[in-house]
Amino acid sequence: MPKCPTCTKEVYFAEKVTSLGKDWHRGCLKCQRCQKTLTPGGHAEHDSKPYCNQPCYGILFGPKGVNTGGAGSYAYAKK
Ligand SMILES: [Zn+2]
Ligand SMILES: [Zn+2]
Repeated sequence: MPKCPTCTKEVYFAEKVTSLGKDWHRGCLKCQRCQKTLTPGGHAEHDSKPYCNQPCYGILFGPKGVNTGGAGSYAYAKK
């Protein structure tokens, strides 16, 4: 039985999603920054951890100074 990289518990078939070559619980495949649930194969990855493409990956790892546009761009400014 594969183990979920997020919670380290076993992943049963009914709740399994596969992304980054690993098996995750459906609810555990979420952005490590904003906790948004991700679509398998439709998200970014860094250090084997899943992130959403925008805005999180761009903010954390993208080129500096890129203005991604949209309301989500400014979410990181909130404390
Ligand atoms: Zn899990
Ligand atoms: Zn995110």
